[in-house]
Amino acid sequence: MMEKLKIGVVGATGIVGQNYIKLLQGHPWFEIIDISASPRSAGKTYQEAAGSKWQMPIPIPNNIKDLVVRDVQDFDSVPEDLSFVFSAINMPTKDQIREVEFKYARNDIPVVSNNSAHRWTPDVPMIIGEVNSHHSKVIPIQQKRRGFSKGFVSVKPNCSIQSYVTPIYALEQAGFKVDKIITTTLQAVSGAGYPGVPSLDMIDNIVPYIGGEEEKSEKEPLKIFGKVTEDGIKNDDSIEISATCTRVSVIDGHTASINLKFKDKIPKKEEIIQIWNEFRAVPQELDLPFAPKQPIIYLEDDDRPQPRKDRDNDKGMAVTVGRLRKDNIFDYKFLGLSHNTIRGAAGGAILNAELLKARGYLK
Ligand code: NAP
Repeated sequence: MMEKLKIGVVGATGIVGQNYIKLLQGHPWFEIIDISASPRSAGKTYQEAAGSKWQMPIPIPNNIKDLVVRDVQDFDSVPEDLSFVFSAINMPTKDQIREVEFKYARNDIPVVSNNSAHRWTPDVPMIIGEVNSHHSKVIPIQQKRRGFSKGFVSVKPNCSIQSYVTPIYALEQAGFKVDKIITTTLQAVSGAGYPGVPSLDMIDNIVPYIGGEEEKSEKEPLKIFGKVTEDGIKNDDSIEISATCTRVSVIDGHTASINLKFKDKIPKKEEIIQIWNEFRAVPQELDLPFAPKQPIIYLEDDDRPQPRKDRDNDKGMAVTVGRLRKDNIFDYKFLGLSHNTIRGAAGGAILNAELLKARGYLK
């Protein structure tokens, strides 16, 4: 049996950090030996630091609850045999997060991050496993430019774009180039972390603004569809995207309504559904532990997808789509749904780490 890689979770006490702890229980390749958080939590056991904030539907696992939380910035007590860390920190500024993540890389510890801080660093890959796993080729460029030997930073994109980027990529792969996208997202409250948006703002309500989210939704797909060059990733600016992002009173699962215009060839409705249902990519070919068997699931019922009923498809790793129909202004419209804290956060990053291990970047 293969020896598991010993790994850490940076920001382990937050919502995404808790999801890592839950999802990595029994993982065949990775074992958590190090957990870290803010100076407020440092020195406490995980049970003491996260106890009242623990939101997972299982008790804190026995192998985690007595681990002593390290201060994220305390590099003297990093275990020697640590292979890499998952980063789920939230700090007052993005500059601070960028610096902390690069500090791990400089200390020979690769970082697989959830954070938005490095998404726009050109030599940092922003990976959706089924779409642009080849962007990992930018890692040696990053290491050379920044003088890292074993360390590097790799990120995953924003949780709100997962429900449509893979379906759109599947259509592009099948030869149907997309020209314009209009999307309106209905995002779950867990996306705001814990304690997140106050209940009096959320219950019986929709909040029509999530700071920075629309810019991320409009720009991140362009990097994901981009090309690796010697200077980093060059964006594909050929698609125009306009996004409206709202927060709704749902615990988990981001839904998006999408209107699509193709550049020239327009597929038939049945063709699109077939392309989505048959789409498979590198994570499925490599049979990675977190790869959904069917990454895009099309539901025929008019009242699907729904967050409560469909977010957990394939352990929360599949994108569920539905209501594909003609659009009077663009060509088609449909709804997409993905689990924001699994596919859009911890689960997506675990899949990225599996890809990076399979490609020899994590040892
Ligand atoms: P969260 O619940 O607020 O957790 C934040 C974590 O960062 C905690 O472990 C916290 O430790 C730590 N932290 C806070 N201030 C710190 C400091 N000054 N120094 C070091 N550590 C500090 O946030 P979250 O929802 O888990 O999100 C984590 C990151 O993932 C964010 O960047 C977020 O944007 C991103 N993300 C979230 C989602 C989602 O669906 N929630 C999806 C994709 C990406 P203490 O407990 O000690 O304060």
